[in-house]
Amino acid sequence: MLNLSELEKLGHSCGFTHVALLKVSTIDLLPEVREMCEKNTCHMYGKNWCCPPGVGTLEECAARLKKYENGILVQTVGQLEDALDGEGMMETEAAHKEHFDEMRDKLLEKYPNMLSIGSGCCTRCKKCTYPDAPCRMPDNTFASMEAYGMLVTSICQKNDLPYYYGPCTISYTGCFLLE
Ligand code: SF4
Repeated sequence: MLNLSELEKLGHSCGFTHVALLKVSTIDLLPEVREMCEKNTCHMYGKNWCCPPGVGTLEECAARLKKYENGILVQTVGQLEDALDGEGMMETEAAHKEHFDEMRDKLLEKYPNMLSIGSGCCTRCKKCTYPDAPCRMPDNTFASMEAYGMLVTSICQKNDLPYYYGPCTISYTGCFLLE
């Protein structure tokens, strides 16, 4: 049984604005999300071991999730100057990645077999080795919820965590599957 208040305290100390319990049974991996990746609007499709198709098929991703029942959702919510504040969006995204790395390091002490699933593509290396050579840091990287085929808004909703915090805000969400 996970202790939410302990995990919230840890999450807030890493900089996250919100932490919520996550039931792994609420996660569906959807071919429609993969189809959105295939449209390649982010220009990362087929360029990174942590993005489709390098991250594995939906069946392979589902097999990784099968080992877990409980985890947490973690969120960083940022304030924007206006709806077109790209700088504010990038700053919030970078902050979220920092919070995620710090939380991951702390959680690994207690949950060495956990599965980390973040947001955005892996940016550990200047140029990813995909597809010519194996990942340089397979134990120190993670795919995004979208790459797994998860519809983040729906998973938040099913676990009583808001996704939208009002005009001129942006939120980034990741999760840790712990037990
Ligand atoms: S750690 Fe490097 S090689 Fe591995 S997925 Fe990330 S960018 Fe690619």
